[in-house]
Amino acid sequence: MNKTLFISDLHLTESRPDISKAFFDFLDNQVTSELDALYILGDFFEVWVGDDYQTDLTLKIAQELKAITNKGIPVYFIHGNRDFLVSKKYAELSGISILNERTVIDLYGTPTLILHGDEMCTQDIEYQKFRKKSRGWWWPKLMLAMPLFYRQSVAKKARERSKASQMDKAPEVLDVTHDAVIDTFKKYQTHLMIHGHTHRPKVHEHDIDGTPAKRIVLGDWYTQGSYLVVTKDAQDLIFTDFE
Ligand code: MN
Repeated sequence: MNKTLFISDLHLTESRPDISKAFFDFLDNQVTSELDALYILGDFFEVWVGDDYQTDLTLKIAQELKAITNKGIPVYFIHGNRDFLVSKKYAELSGISILNERTVIDLYGTPTLILHGDEMCTQDIEYQKFRKKSRGWWWPKLMLAMPLFYRQSVAKKARERSKASQMDKAPEVLDVTHDAVIDTFKKYQTHLMIHGHTHRPKVHEHDIDGTPAKRIVLGDWYTQGSYLVVTKDAQDLIFTDFE
């Protein structure tokens, strides 16, 4: 049966070859003639300082993704908070299509909102402030105009700061809020939503003015493989052990 795959939060990086291996194994196993599309919903890379900085790993990933799109299977990409600077040059190299940060797709007849999900963590005021700035029009332009070493040091400092501040925050502050979820469902008028970011894989049932709605949260790949398979009849969150 035809299927569509969703992944997010792999946080691919040279220092975690086990995750890269799990990802390549996942492609080997899952990219079959039944695959209609692969959706990557953000934080695919641990960090991205610009398309002008490539490593052996990012080039290998581009090559693997390109092999999929060359078969006529589209690979769609939505930016996460770690990799929102992925742009046209890498898209061309890898064959991926970058979608708007909130996109409604037709998933086997069901209108489905897909997004990274960080914008729904509205209790994390400090983060939302940074998000607003960094995703505006001028910040990425300014950043990308800076030399590579400067961007790398900014990214490193941002990661350290975010790690430290996350430790001070209550777990619920780092999760999406109920109100933001309901508002988002209403705004996009769908009853199915798929997102990542929180690293709390789960299928949630919601009620939107009396109509049931489902929100599927994808898992991260820190300790296991994690993906969503959607067919015409089912949606399954699957977890796989690292070999
Ligand atoms: Mn994220």
